[in-house]
Amino acid sequence: MSASFSHPSSVWISSANPARTFPPLTAGLRTDVAIIGGGFTGLTAAWHLAKAGIDCAVIEAHDIGWGASGRNGGMAVLRYKTPWAGLARRHGEEEARHLHGLLLSALDALEEIISDLGIDCGFSRCGHITAANGKSALAMLRADVEWLAAAGDRAPRMLTAGETAELSGTSCYLGAYLDPRAAGIHPLNYARGLAAGLADRGVTLHSGTPASAIQENSHGVSVATPGGTVRAGQLLIATNAYTELFSLGNDLDKRIVPVSTSVITTAPLPPDELHRLLPQGHLVSDTRHLLNYFRIAPGNRMMFGGRGSLTGKESPGVYSGLERKLVETYPSLAGVPIDHRWSGKVAVTLDDFPHAGRLGKRVSFAMGYGGRGVVLTGLLGGMLAALAKGEAVRAGPMHAASFAPIPLHGLRIPAMKAVAGYYRLLDALRL
Ligand SMILES: Cc1cc2nc3c(=O)[nH]c(=O)nc-3n(C[C@H](O)[C@H](O)[C@H](O)COP(=O)(O)OP(=O)(O)OC[C@H]3O[C@@H](n4cnc5c(N)ncnc54)[C@H](O)[C@@H]3O)c2cc1C
Repeated sequence: MSASFSHPSSVWISSANPARTFPPLTAGLRTDVAIIGGGFTGLTAAWHLAKAGIDCAVIEAHDIGWGASGRNGGMAVLRYKTPWAGLARRHGEEEARHLHGLLLSALDALEEIISDLGIDCGFSRCGHITAANGKSALAMLRADVEWLAAAGDRAPRMLTAGETAELSGTSCYLGAYLDPRAAGIHPLNYARGLAAGLADRGVTLHSGTPASAIQENSHGVSVATPGGTVRAGQLLIATNAYTELFSLGNDLDKRIVPVSTSVITTAPLPPDELHRLLPQGHLVSDTRHLLNYFRIAPGNRMMFGGRGSLTGKESPGVYSGLERKLVETYPSLAGVPIDHRWSGKVAVTLDDFPHAGRLGKRVSFAMGYGGRGVVLTGLLGGMLAALAKGEAVRAGPMHAASFAPIPLHGLRIPAMKAVAGYYRLLDALRL
């Protein structure tokens, strides 16, 4: 594998199952559905298509799972970025309940795919804690639990400050929202297992194969790559935050803002120490605008993530900032060596929803998950497969019509700097 395809030095790559090799495309290829992007979105779309007996091929510029899918926190969280009660206010009760049903079924689908393909990725419904940093966040989480109970979902519950401290091993929080159904996975092993399982079912996969141009006409769609042209009846674009890496002659990259997020892990901790910090192995995110998230990682490590560099360029300051936050959260970890540091990009949208839809009669896309793609990629991957089959999808607020190019996209970095400064202030004031 060439160095440019190499994965970041994450804890996932250092603990990954061996990867199946998918050589670059070296000749022309015909398929019913071509898929650009070998992350969760593209691979789950292929799973749905293969299940329906439709011939499809995935091309990936780097390596399978090289993008966000192979380097994320592996937290399958059952919340959209907007709180439930806020969704009901914004989109109405019926739509909010539909969105709730979609999310629960998407997590079930993730579990189904893992079991269908026998993927060894440590899937565990260990539960997710959303820990409140301030009083308004606590009130927001309470409103969510009430809204969910009224909608018939009594699984999530509030934790008192004492219970939160017991389960998260830190007294930083005023209380929390616990959803016991949320799951943790090893994300790179999930991506690799999906790819291997798909190949066993006859799906064609090529890594090291960047798409460089797309042409659509009444007979089909063709995708240019360095080794040959892929011709298909339908094309699915699943390039998410890495869309801007290659110009495909459309405006999808202008509809999202790629934002870096960075992660560190401690060196292996004594099992009792880790057990004292996260005694039941919960996944945790806080409610800061510039949020932090943490969990147990392979090898008895503590993983801790948060905002990355605004310009997308990695800098030591980003990681030392994360180390400070880790020690603020867990003072007992002061001085513990950090053995992995890596970053990746999430695709932020103006309405905090991902979107799926058509660019043309034969070209569809799905992207814009923010930091919520582990569950939602399965949902939108399913929508992509349905679009390729010519079926209607009920995407609600995730449809394409509300996913226009962002005005003044070229000014996004100074705009993000201003917003980050404002968010730092709100977080300092615990608002
Ligand atoms: C550090 C980090 C932590 C995160 N933590 C979580 C979490 O805990 N929970 C959660 O729900 N979400 C999390 N996310 C978000 C989640 O990882 C993403 O939403 C999800 O993986 C997106 O999957 P995808 O398949 O759409 O995109 P990706 O996995 O990014 O895949 C896109 C692929 O497209 C390829 N590509 C781009 N252009 C071309 C081209 N022209 N030709 C061929 N291939 C191309 C890229 O190489 C890339 O591999 C995190 C993200 C990061 C970066």
